[in-house]
Amino acid sequence: MRRPLIAGNWKLNGRRADVEERLKALRAGFREEWVEAVDMLVCPPAVFLPSCESSLKGSPIAWGSQSHAAEASGAYTGEVSASMIADFGASYAIVGHSERRALFAETDAIVAQKVNRAVAAGLTPIVCVGETLDQREAGEAETVICSQLLAALSDESGFLEAPFVVAYEPVWAIGTGKVASVADVESVLAAIRRVLKEGSESLSERTLLLYGGSVKPSNTAELCALPDLDGALVGGASLKPADFLEIMNQCFKSLSSST
Ligand code: PEP
Repeated sequence: MRRPLIAGNWKLNGRRADVEERLKALRAGFREEWVEAVDMLVCPPAVFLPSCESSLKGSPIAWGSQSHAAEASGAYTGEVSASMIADFGASYAIVGHSERRALFAETDAIVAQKVNRAVAAGLTPIVCVGETLDQREAGEAETVICSQLLAALSDESGFLEAPFVVAYEPVWAIGTGKVASVADVESVLAAIRRVLKEGSESLSERTLLLYGGSVKPSNTAELCALPDLDGALVGGASLKPADFLEIMNQCFKSLSSST
């Protein structure tokens, strides 16, 4: 049985004081009834991982990174490695976000390397896949997504045994207020599961599938009702504690009503 996950990607936002305030609000607002049902994750800019460790240690809220180096160590000025991130108690690593792919030239090969680094450091990778609007309009969405996923799975380090998360994030839905239709999300999730099953039955059973792209409290219930969806990767709305907590609540309620 997979436990749903609501993950927040804080991107390049906030200063130390705001971040610590937000962490405090999330910890205070996390409801006891969610503990056994839904996991919460926050992914701040890497410099705030120590704040996560001191504010969230001992709470049910996990923390993770938005990006890490493809290399383990060495002369890579400005980079932060997966093991450094793990040193601060992080347990997840977002990999291959479309902003990294588009703005920082992160290729499928780099994504695969980063997945391996994350796993080797004991972090659970959250691999982002998704099509652009042009690709969707050309009927190429599922081909693009499956090929991104296959590339991320082309590992050498045996991560097929490790915990794994895939986030389906249509590029045109990120930060735009546009959400993919439930039918489109459903059909992409089915395609992702097929690819995972080809890897192995156990990989498919254990991998969480998230949706990301303009998730907010008002559209969470409909998305979380999808049987194959295991949660959400939330950008903008995760910066507002009240909205992020309400997304958790909607996900929890939709689980409770389906059991
Ligand atoms: C994201 O950047 O991963 C994301 C889903 O952003 P937003 O929720 O703001 O669309």
